[in-house]
Amino acid sequence: MRGLIVAGNWKMNGNQQFVDDMLFSLNKVEFSESVEVIVFPPSVYLHAARQQAKTVKVGAQNIFFESSGAYTGEISPSMLSDIDCRYVILGHSERRAIFSEDDDLIAKKVVASIENDLVPILCVGETLEDRESGRFFEVIARQVKIGLSLLQAEQVARVIVAYEPVWAIGTGKTASPLQAQEVHGLIRRLVAELVGEQISESISILYGGSVNAANAKELFSQPDIDGGLVGGASLKVDEFLAICSAA
Ligand code: 13P
Repeated sequence: MRGLIVAGNWKMNGNQQFVDDMLFSLNKVEFSESVEVIVFPPSVYLHAARQQAKTVKVGAQNIFFESSGAYTGEISPSMLSDIDCRYVILGHSERRAIFSEDDDLIAKKVVASIENDLVPILCVGETLEDRESGRFFEVIARQVKIGLSLLQAEQVARVIVAYEPVWAIGTGKTASPLQAQEVHGLIRRLVAELVGEQISESISILYGGSVNAANAKELFSQPDIDGGLVGGASLKVDEFLAICSAA
């Protein structure tokens, strides 16, 4: 059965002291066995965070798809494996919008991460314009299809999908539990069409976009929502822990 996951995407926030304090606090918590908690610090802190973390997993916010070479500023999937960081966020809407990452590039990163025994969290989601036009699921379906297109069916089983409507990220506007459930259900159906129902029922689909301590429980209780990818609220330890307890 698929697992519940609460992932904290710290984005480009914090400093060494913040990382130390967060891991010190998280290390004191005994999380429920049914929830996997993962934090995603900026890459410069990954190694230290990985060494400190006892109760949570640590992942990266991005990678490049090549394993080494003249790619100034990038980190490779094998470098992440090397420091035993097993998770990576790919295709976040900030990477798509600010750094011009397109679906084909993201697909290469997804397959490279799987080939290096990493677990990719493939982020998809529509803009406000896509939602208001009513064609939002076309956009999401394209992101999912292309994002998974270089994988064999059995490799898709190792992917986590995160639905993050762009209009809900950092805006305080959350998709309602029913709006989110509708899209999660459609994503699961699409994955079933691509690789079969058994795999689609086994993968976790996370919701992201202004998740907080007050709305987490209702979101996570929807049948196709298997936890959250949390931004701003993951930077406050008490609120993040409350979100973890809601899962
Ligand atoms: P917020 O929770 O700050 O809206 O960010 C969501 C997000 O982008 C997580 O990846």
